[in-house]
Amino acid sequence: MKKTLIIGAGGVGHVVAHKCVQNRDVFGAITLASRSIGRCEEIQSEIKDAKIEITTVDADKTEEVIALIKRIDADIVINVALPYQDLTIMDACIATKTHYLDTANYEHPDEAKFEYKEQWARDEAFKEAGIMGLLGSGFDPGVTNVFFAYAQKHYFDAIHTIDILDCNAGDHGYAFATNFNPEINLREVSAKGRYWQKNDSGVGEWVETEPMEIKMLWDYPEVGERDSYLLYHEEMESLVKHIKGLKRIRFFMTFSESYLTHMRCLENVGMLGIKPVMHKGVEIVPIEFLKTLLPDPASLGERTKGKTNIGIVAEGIKDGKKRKIYIYQVSDHEKCYAEVKSQAVSYTTGVPAMIGAKLILEEKWRGEGVFNMEEFDPDLFMEELNSQGLPWQIKELAV
Ligand code: NDP
Repeated sequence: MKKTLIIGAGGVGHVVAHKCVQNRDVFGAITLASRSIGRCEEIQSEIKDAKIEITTVDADKTEEVIALIKRIDADIVINVALPYQDLTIMDACIATKTHYLDTANYEHPDEAKFEYKEQWARDEAFKEAGIMGLLGSGFDPGVTNVFFAYAQKHYFDAIHTIDILDCNAGDHGYAFATNFNPEINLREVSAKGRYWQKNDSGVGEWVETEPMEIKMLWDYPEVGERDSYLLYHEEMESLVKHIKGLKRIRFFMTFSESYLTHMRCLENVGMLGIKPVMHKGVEIVPIEFLKTLLPDPASLGERTKGKTNIGIVAEGIKDGKKRKIYIYQVSDHEKCYAEVKSQAVSYTTGVPAMIGAKLILEEKWRGEGVFNMEEFDPDLFMEELNSQGLPWQIKELAV
């Protein structure tokens, strides 16, 4: 019987635990570990008919993770803690020769870099240990990368331009809240934008924009028209490397005017700062303090209504003719909550994390080293999406 270790019992960990239990024949004995036991206990009591073990671990400490992996003799670690823990958990996997999967690139708490460099640097060590590391197996990154691999395999001889389109039209009724970890979310959306394109000499270069400088209106199926803003997003770094013939790649996310106004105010008064400041003789990190004030993303599920629509538009050439393909997935917040007691943002991240781990354990996605999602056969993943709760659609668009 396989043994699965899930690290992180937040919004995403919650969904991963439910989904692994639904696929118990693959995941076998499941242990959920997190920094504090309270969330683990809540999840354990929700899944009361299907036993899972729970325990605490400080995943900032490689030795603690090594001891836990050894104690339960894990075959795979599904890392859905925070991006700060990616490297310590990867190092524990190398030391114990255990497969690894995550949903977000490593970040240092003091400086957000949005890059895979330090994780890719462990490729050789993963190879030597004979294990597989799958990076970014959430929705974006994750499913979006698989959508491109699928488009590339079935619809194009060469993809020239890529737009990733991420819309959350859910309404939780709060004036301001983030859909996943506030620190990680606000860092991402308040950073400068960036996209990649080939210049006139055919050399690829990153073009930087001010935060929210570029906006377009996109008509999202089942949601409607929404303002969508250009952001930098980590999957572009690996797609640029792996999609041949690419000339431009951009990422857009929808935000309401109210969200942006709140964010600008918070930024203007320094509440999004990630460097410590002194407050009444005590050091505090503004964004961490803000996190304690904002609604817990895990508590949004019950009150969120509406849909998410995340997809990709690829344009390129097939048999000498131009074509444009839109692949997207629509999730309903209330349906997700009815199934696993989580809103759609956690659901659309947790389900692909489970699918990636399932394909590794079933040896359908196999390799030694550190990989991004688009490096494997997309068909298996696309089939799983349809059967595990994230059915997708394809549309041919006019060129
Ligand atoms: P949450 O903040 O809800 O949960 C994080 C969990 O990790 C908490 O249970 C927390 O414990 C635990 N944790 C934090 N530090 C440690 C530590 N040192 N040791 C052990 N456990 C720790 O985050 P989310 O569930 O919303 O997000 C999880 C991950 O998913 C993040 O990396 C996020 O970036 C990623 N993500 C990816 C997406 C994608 O599409 N690819 C989309 C959304 C999120 P405690 O309860 O004690 O605080």
